[in-house]
Amino acid sequence: MISKEEFKREVLKWADIIGVNPKEIQIRKMNRKWASCSSKGRLTFSTDLLLQSKEFRNEVIVHELLHLKYPTHNKMFKILLKTYLWKK
Ligand SMILES: [Zn+2]
Repeated sequence: MISKEEFKREVLKWADIIGVNPKEIQIRKMNRKWASCSSKGRLTFSTDLLLQSKEFRNEVIVHELLHLKYPTHNKMFKILLKTYLWKK
């Protein structure tokens, strides 16, 4: 298990790679969801992620951060998601 601080650092590292600037990063208990992204650029991640593997955390983090650029799961979103997770 990693700490919230470590998780936040991972999110910021990815934000830097992707070139987005989340307004706020929250980590709290969530129901039936790993994460969410508000239209105002606020990201919320589930505390359950702290127990998951790094690989899985990366998937969720990159997914949410990409939503700051692409609100929907369009073609570009999917291509970039694959690209980023590939090079890691
Ligand atoms: Zn999504």
